[in-house]
Amino acid sequence: MEKLKFGFYWAASCGGCEIAVLDVDEKILEILKIADVVFWPVAMDVKYRDVEAMADGYMDVCFFNGGIRNSEQEHLAKLLRKKAKYMVAFGACAQLGGVPGLANLSNRKDIFERVYHTTESTDNKAGTEPQVKHTLPEGSSEIPVFQESVRPLDQVIPVDYYLPGCPPPPKLIFNAIDAIAKGQLPPKGSILAPELAVCDECPRKKEEKKVAHIKRIIDFTPEPEKCLLEQGLVCMGPATRGGCDAKCLGANMPCTGCGGACPGAIEQGSAMISALSTVLGLADEKAEEYDVDAVVAQLKDPVGTFYKYALPASIIGRRVKK
Ligand code: SF4
Ligand code: SF4
Repeated sequence: MEKLKFGFYWAASCGGCEIAVLDVDEKILEILKIADVVFWPVAMDVKYRDVEAMADGYMDVCFFNGGIRNSEQEHLAKLLRKKAKYMVAFGACAQLGGVPGLANLSNRKDIFERVYHTTESTDNKAGTEPQVKHTLPEGSSEIPVFQESVRPLDQVIPVDYYLPGCPPPPKLIFNAIDAIAKGQLPPKGSILAPELAVCDECPRKKEEKKVAHIKRIIDFTPEPEKCLLEQGLVCMGPATRGGCDAKCLGANMPCTGCGGACPGAIEQGSAMISALSTVLGLADEKAEEYDVDAVVAQLKDPVGTFYKYALPASIIGRRVKK
């Protein structure tokens, strides 16, 4: 049987997704029996001109991690889309924009102002900023254009499948590759993860308790067997797609939402606000003493909490400055 051809690419992301490919451990040997890697800039010497020379549809699958932040990433996304039969948005940044997508709370001008002029460690008396084109006697150079917003991959090119997570769990990666090899992929547009929420995989005990205060994980050590939401922590489990075996809960840390919106939710942040509203309050007859504004004020960084990975893919998408 002819081997499949895989490509991997890394755009606006931390690089953890590249390492996650190796987290499948010895199963990598099974993968290499069925597939050759023909493009993987982080691991092999390959040039963009090599991709340009490929026939359209030459690669069977391209696993693309990272969102689109600059013109080079946009160019490669469009090029790889042509060269791959299936395009997989690999990880939270490609699927949703990810943590780098929180930069959509700002814009290009303000980011440059902060980074090149006003950080405490900046010494830039000449006020220099990166120039896209630069000419010296020795020759000219060009760097990618930094764009106004971070975009998830499907806002730039059509995406066939999504592998969620920050990074995607090895089990989901291997299952996806197995489905590709056996020709058993679900319909295009599917998220290659189970149809359940993190709460469904979480072994912690839920008592349907009300909580009167929102706390942060730095404030206390939570009890290891009880639901974190019911201990006052904003655990994104009710609003987040599972498939990770509730990994963070096993480490006594709340889910921060890297799996994206749970099945059935229009978007993750609003689903979590709704879930949180059902647990906040006083359990007894003193309910009229409950000061909802004071409790909501205890929530530090609401956007970073509810949209840590998904701001660019959310209904809001970005901050709009008038
Ligand atoms: S809210 Fe968090 S701690 Fe509670 S059951 Fe869901 S995932 Fe587990
Ligand atoms: S528990 Fe939440 S944040 Fe942790 S790996 Fe799972 S989906 Fe991601």
